[in-house]
Amino acid sequence: MTIESTSLFSTLTRRSFLKTASSVAAAGALGDSLDLLAQAAPKFTAILVPAGAHPAVRSAAEMLAKKLGLSAEAIHESVGTDELIKGMISLVLKDAKAVNATLASSITRDGYAVLAENGGLIVCGARPRSLLFAAGETHHWLERAQGFWARNPEFAMRFASHHADHSVAEQVAILGANSFISQLHASVSLKDEMPEVYAKLSPAVQQRLSAAESDDMMRNRALVKEFHDADVEVFADLPYGNNFSRWSEDLYNAFLAVYPSAKGVPEEHSWERAALCPSDPATWKLFEAYVRECARQSQADGVACTFWDQFGIFCHDERCQKNGLDQFKNELQVAITHYYAAVQPMGKKLHLRTWSSGCPHWLGADYVHAPGYSNFSQSHYELWSRVINETPKEILIQTKVYHSDCEPDPRFSTLLGHCKPHPEIVEYQMVGQTIGRHYFPAATVAYTAWTMKKAHELIGADGGAEITPGGTNQSNYDMYADLLNSVDIFAWRELTWNLNANVAQIYSDWAAQMYSPQAAPHMAKAMLLSEEAANLCWSPLGHGSSTNSDFANDIERRETLLRYTNRYYLPEYAKFLEPTKENIARIVAEKQKCLAGIDAMFAELEAAKPHLSEAQVAEIATRFDWFREFAICNTALDVSLWRFRYLRAQAAMLTTDPAEVKPLAEAFDAVTQHAPKLFHYDPAQKFTCYDVPLGQLRTKPNLGSPLRLMHEIYTKSLAFMEASTGPDYLPKEFIRAEVEINIPTESERQRM
Ligand SMILES: [Zn+2]
Repeated sequence: MTIESTSLFSTLTRRSFLKTASSVAAAGALGDSLDLLAQAAPKFTAILVPAGAHPAVRSAAEMLAKKLGLSAEAIHESVGTDELIKGMISLVLKDAKAVNATLASSITRDGYAVLAENGGLIVCGARPRSLLFAAGETHHWLERAQGFWARNPEFAMRFASHHADHSVAEQVAILGANSFISQLHASVSLKDEMPEVYAKLSPAVQQRLSAAESDDMMRNRALVKEFHDADVEVFADLPYGNNFSRWSEDLYNAFLAVYPSAKGVPEEHSWERAALCPSDPATWKLFEAYVRECARQSQADGVACTFWDQFGIFCHDERCQKNGLDQFKNELQVAITHYYAAVQPMGKKLHLRTWSSGCPHWLGADYVHAPGYSNFSQSHYELWSRVINETPKEILIQTKVYHSDCEPDPRFSTLLGHCKPHPEIVEYQMVGQTIGRHYFPAATVAYTAWTMKKAHELIGADGGAEITPGGTNQSNYDMYADLLNSVDIFAWRELTWNLNANVAQIYSDWAAQMYSPQAAPHMAKAMLLSEEAANLCWSPLGHGSSTNSDFANDIERRETLLRYTNRYYLPEYAKFLEPTKENIARIVAEKQKCLAGIDAMFAELEAAKPHLSEAQVAEIATRFDWFREFAICNTALDVSLWRFRYLRAQAAMLTTDPAEVKPLAEAFDAVTQHAPKLFHYDPAQKFTCYDVPLGQLRTKPNLGSPLRLMHEIYTKSLAFMEASTGPDYLPKEFIRAEVEINIPTESERQRM
């Protein structure tokens, strides 16, 4: 394929986040500086690649050309000299002949090094992908005029989840990642693996699965080639959890028709299911066959599996109660042993994603066990101990850095560093889930900085770091293109390559890429402020919120969510839950600090405004406003919840505190006034992070309504007070109970 046609393909089918000086200036997205850059005489006029270079090297050259505003004709094949030529960037591999020895020896793992001399640059990579890594961070080396600079990664493995809208090479460049997890769909019919099960499928299903298989395999082949062309590995994502009835309902029913004894017996009142019994040998025959088929059809280098809250083999029949397979840790050990047995003979790797979040609690009539969460359930290590100690050590074990993923700024994982001899990977699920789902500005740079360092100490340089960039429950969203929260991706990349990268410098380097030089310092400051503001908004006194940042519907759910963090039993956090005046004062102060932080973000935006484009101002102002309106409602709710808890405790002691009626009425008024202002936007407005105008988003921006919860908190608090004061004592001007609340239903909200 020629360079020209490759470029055309990228433009037509994918969004590109690599800015060129000319395109950015033409679009008016950035200010004066890039106009000047585009007009100035180009410093570099040619890029050299080795003859017959690996596709990853060619992609790196194309990216550099694009960034420099050069055409594809500026890329030439070199004739094997390492001479530095003025105006040229020469891309070489370290094992090539005639490579400068100092340069080559400074490179470790899959890093690279740059030598600047005589107005030219040599970029030397450990292997082809290393040059993509270099192309993704030119801000570190392109301006160098003299001397040499080596750039080596801190972790041997850098995993990322694949984003289908961008080319693999671009993601490798931006993230500095060398391994990916991708959705490589398989249409499993078990025709060859378990013909007796296949025979029980209806002819229509048989036909559908066979027809889809060849399409899937063709698509997978092309995508896997794209990964290998970028010189990186790819793992196929297996279906989530191990509830086989969710993996394939058709196969599940067909299988049970042949092997009825494999059906599991669920525990009464358990949130977990028992689609299959782990004590029945046919269960594992089925799992192995299915996993093997997924691995074969994906054509990937390995498969990745996830176990959490869909344990479909939580069986409590007599067999399982007798042999212990009614226990999570034993089920996990058996499951992973069988997954490994399926993929190992195929020469494919197994990537295992552990998880812990939430807390044990009742959800309606079901009990959510939340294993691995410590306190009132097993510890994280105990849950995984048999897997760690008894499965083959080459299985990669990935663990979230968050011990609870239900709050911003959560505790550090209790499992990381305890999975040896397995290689360990620290996971960063950067999907904005607990910080406003990326609707709002919310950086996590400081958190990533300290946790990355700690994770590295625990798991070592041979371990890995992972990133899942995206937006939970968002449609049309692209975090790479987000003019605010892309800072979190940028920070992850910086820190995985330099643990000591300075937080302020990260913000500043990121902003310099996104904004004009006059606007950049203000936008860097605004985003830095957003981290604390988001923490204070969603993590009241260090406790939990909804995993999806939205408003809880009632007090019972809100209090469950307070526990949805594992801090509530720690002495330093438990004391914040005591129903006291001091704690009300504490949370009032904390929430004032949150709102003041948002005001300070607006002040930075004001200062940046004259140096931003009109579209940038419109988007940032809208999203800052969304954050402020949400925070006003959310802070009023949290403060009122603490008042409610205090009044409830007072009522238990047969007394009350009528002074609380005034602030509760004020909170009620604030929420009533601000709820209609949530998520205001012009349907024609277009954000950087969406591929369509706001009016055309498949999922409308929305985090639910604060009205129902506010009403319940207010009326129940009032009832506690009235129980002691009678109906006449409380001042009439603070009585809001008779207010009629109309809460839109989900379908009405969709129409709004
Ligand atoms: Zn069983």
